[in-house]
Amino acid sequence: MSLAAELSREEQRKLAGELVAEIGRLADKAGRHLRFMEVCGTHTVSIFRAGIRQLLPESVELVSGPGCPVCVTPDEYMDKAIAYACREDCIITTFGDMLKVPGTESSLGEAKTAGADIRIVYSPLDSLQVARENPDKKVIFLAVGFETTAPTAAATVLAAKQAGLTNLYMLSAQKLVPPALRLLIDDPEVLVDGFILPGHVSVVTGTEVFKFLESEYHIPGVVTGFEPLQILRSLYRLTRQVAEGVAKVENEYGSVVKPEGNPTSMAVTNKVYEPVAAKWRGIGEIPASGLKMRDAYKSFDIEEVLPLPVAELPQPRKTGCRCGEVLKGIVTPHECPLFGKACVPTHAIGPCMVSVEGVCAAWYKYGKGLFTYGNK
Ligand code: SF4
Ligand code: SF4
Repeated sequence: MSLAAELSREEQRKLAGELVAEIGRLADKAGRHLRFMEVCGTHTVSIFRAGIRQLLPESVELVSGPGCPVCVTPDEYMDKAIAYACREDCIITTFGDMLKVPGTESSLGEAKTAGADIRIVYSPLDSLQVARENPDKKVIFLAVGFETTAPTAAATVLAAKQAGLTNLYMLSAQKLVPPALRLLIDDPEVLVDGFILPGHVSVVTGTEVFKFLESEYHIPGVVTGFEPLQILRSLYRLTRQVAEGVAKVENEYGSVVKPEGNPTSMAVTNKVYEPVAAKWRGIGEIPASGLKMRDAYKSFDIEEVLPLPVAELPQPRKTGCRCGEVLKGIVTPHECPLFGKACVPTHAIGPCMVSVEGVCAAWYKYGKGLFTYGNK
């Protein structure tokens, strides 16, 4: 049962106050400015919604990492998706928030307005029906997500194979979280004292995959649920570890996250996909951080079946968007000169302003750019 469900409002408030006081005491004991990073878009939104940043002492800073799969999807991927969408023989199926993500010159939303056949689905499995109903078209699902959604995309491929469907394809930009954490830690500009580790991803991967944080980097991490009290408790655990000079991966979401994760889901993903180097928007290529279909399933990979000539893809343009630095926690959104001016949720210049879980969108919605926090 969740903490919020077990405690009255008054008890929750009291516990939150005690945790904040304890975090302050432990931060004093640590004797330096502390930076903790959340790497999950839902955590970003929960932290803002509950006003957790403002509750914390000045010496404890929260920064947001690359936690939203939409935000880290690169321009090139969007350009490819748009190029496929513009073909007469293709239908794109995708989650709704992908429509507004800017490519180099336009977005899927603009392509749809211009007549491209792009359909919003709520699960990759919905694409099976679209493929059945349109046997003369290539139905391409835009597989964008982390470890959380990859099993369903893989299950869709397996279901298509079993049903003998030969017109369903994936355009994969799926990403894996642990390699991104490695890159962040290895980047000398990114100074992080501990990670609030993603709850949903960990349900699938388990906690063991994050053990390298303690064994290789001596950086604490706490797998965390999405309630404000769970987040505060994970911050308490992180601060305590730093104050005591230890670094462990702890689990503050033990009711749903097991050390081994969900082996069945992992097995489905591993059956269809293998890790490859992948480009993250604004960050660059990260080794073994993406998922590509194994040889046995290549007939479902649209890039294998119908590769696009390079000439069809536009060259990247310079927009001034600082998403790359925002996603690494190097700058806050309001340090981007476009924030709240040229770039707002209704007219996003960069992907961090598009998704509801995007860092810039959260700052805009909950902070209106007014945060003056910690040393920022
Ligand atoms: S998929 Fe889940 S874990 Fe990943 S960013 Fe979204 S909410 Fe967080
Ligand atoms: S405010 Fe807009 S342009 Fe600036 S970093 Fe965020 S998404 Fe990019």
